[in-house]
Amino acid sequence: MKVCKFGGSSLCNAEQFRKVKDIVSGDKDRKFVVVSAPGKRFPEDRKVTDLLYDCCRQVALGASPDAILAEIRSRYDSIITELGLQINLDEDFAELDRLLHSDCEADSVASRGEYLTAKLMSAYLGYDFIDAADLIRFHTDGTLNAEDTDALIARIPGASSHAVVPGFYGSNRKGRIVTFSRGGSDITGALLAKGIGADLYENWTDVPGFLLAGPDLIPNAKKVDIMRYRELLLLSRLGADVFHADATTPLRETGIPTHICNTNDPASTGTYVYKSLPEEHRHKTAVCGISVEPDDNAESAYLHIIGYRLGGMAAGLLRALQDAGVESWLEQTGENELIFGLGQAQMLDAARTIYHVLTA
Ligand code: ASP
Repeated sequence: MKVCKFGGSSLCNAEQFRKVKDIVSGDKDRKFVVVSAPGKRFPEDRKVTDLLYDCCRQVALGASPDAILAEIRSRYDSIITELGLQINLDEDFAELDRLLHSDCEADSVASRGEYLTAKLMSAYLGYDFIDAADLIRFHTDGTLNAEDTDALIARIPGASSHAVVPGFYGSNRKGRIVTFSRGGSDITGALLAKGIGADLYENWTDVPGFLLAGPDLIPNAKKVDIMRYRELLLLSRLGADVFHADATTPLRETGIPTHICNTNDPASTGTYVYKSLPEEHRHKTAVCGISVEPDDNAESAYLHIIGYRLGGMAAGLLRALQDAGVESWLEQTGENELIFGLGQAQMLDAARTIYHVLTA
């Protein structure tokens, strides 16, 4: 059985909802679906979650959130109309309005993006709706209560065979809504996969998979086919935003593999992430990501190369950097990570040089 999580760009309008339905109905193992709130439809657009936080800001400033609320409502209403769903959100928006004008808790308000998306998606797929407030438990200090969460999720299979769950939030013992940090629907998906013992966790995004370098360094960088949670965690911590760093923990603990897939190209191979490498990859060397990080207190920067069995590559890469006129030194070397030090002004040149050497 598979848990599939769809990110905001996969849910930004009715057309994307249709793609999600095709994907989910294309495999009978896709029984549990986690959704984010609708993301951007075009570059200048705003994510529904950002609009919800903005409503809170308006209220805090003593201004009216009504215009933004109307914008949010129209996003959902157009999906409802275009898909012909029999849903009316009057009550939900009246409640949201009450929330904003009572204690205006930012977490409660922000969570409605995922809540409403799951409500629409469950109706569209004909799946049950299960509120994440009943599954994901936080301590009162805002940290995840993993034990209670696992126990709550483990009850799902007895209650529902097919369900949509909103990502990003849960609740604490006092019944208050608490959110993860931004991008946290990945964590909901990972916890769900762990709690119900899924065979595979699918993370559906709008990119072909995990890319060797971010678009700021290398436009259209090559996709990585396979990596481990270990590399994914290091790269997520270095700023790769395909997967929330905290989502790796439950998956790594249980050994459930992740498949990072593209909603806009579902037949493509994506990236597989494992706890340990499949046998045929164990003796190979592979780079899974390149990242640069400026040192805030100095004029230097660090170029990180993350992968496995990297030890033997350090000298050759250092030579390649020097041949390209990048003054650099080896800062740290290990099987999993090589770090080169260099001047900030040469960060981009260094990343591009390494990328070209690795992909030549
Ligand atoms: N909607 C939330 C955000 O924009 C959570 C998520 O998408 O995972 O950060």
